[in-house]
Amino acid sequence: MKLLDGKVAIITGASRGIGKSIAETFIAHGATVAFTYLSSDEKAKALEAELTANGGIARGFKSNASDFEAAQKLADEVMEAFGQIDILVNNAGITRDNLLMRMTEDQWDEVMNTNLKSAFNLTKAVLRPMLKARKGSIINMSSVVGVSGNAGQANYAASKAGMIGFTKSVAQELGSRNIRCNAIAPGFIETEMTAALDEAVVQGWRESIPMKRGGTPEDVANVTAFLASDMSAYVTGQTINVCGGMLC
Ligand code: NDP
Repeated sequence: MKLLDGKVAIITGASRGIGKSIAETFIAHGATVAFTYLSSDEKAKALEAELTANGGIARGFKSNASDFEAAQKLADEVMEAFGQIDILVNNAGITRDNLLMRMTEDQWDEVMNTNLKSAFNLTKAVLRPMLKARKGSIINMSSVVGVSGNAGQANYAASKAGMIGFTKSVAQELGSRNIRCNAIAPGFIETEMTAALDEAVVQGWRESIPMKRGGTPEDVANVTAFLASDMSAYVTGQTINVCGGMLC
């Protein structure tokens, strides 16, 4: 029996990066995966093919996580396709970095809507099936900067701190219904995006981390799988830092 056998998961923002790794890890552990993306049609198609290649059950949905109605439609479609929703991973996120002096209202709103309002939208959308089933695990992808703050990222850090407050509140409201809600705060995770950065700068970041390396998407995906599974049945309202010791 695999860790996530018999469970259906929605993962937002899985066409690349951490979300993609979560989708791959969940499939490897036996889950049925419904993943979303915003605009990367080709990547999503390729991921769907990869996830289903060895008998896995997965489907990609083009769905804007910051749109309330779209989230409800997604949950309805997943229920129709797979009959249950056991796990929700609110992973979709963006950055629009700028010093506060220069930050525009649009940069603030875009980040808040994609990173924080999306968690509200999707959590509301899966509540009915989870309440009916009297079980569920919701995992919100925060960030170490949501815990510590970061110059040049007031919008992003506020959205990620907001996710932690949201996580704790949902855990308190729904614990009695056996619905758990936890957050993950990744540190510096090396993805396609960071591969394009100056190597000397990236090496400097690595040196400043106690474990002397950046994290991998798999490092985050493995903790997500733990929180999604019954291995963490008595864990709720927590934020787990996956940061190589950056925050101690
Ligand atoms: P990427 O930029 O690599 O991928 C973001 C994903 O989110 C893509 O699949 C993208 O889809 C999707 N997405 C963006 N906007 C929306 C939307 N409105 N609706 C649905 N999907 C959307 O991100 P990462 O893998 O680096 O990060 C994943 C999460 O982890 C984010 O929440 C991020 O803030 C958090 N995080 C990342 C860290 C890092 O070092 N990488 C560190 C700490 C936290 P599409 O391809 O179609 O645009």
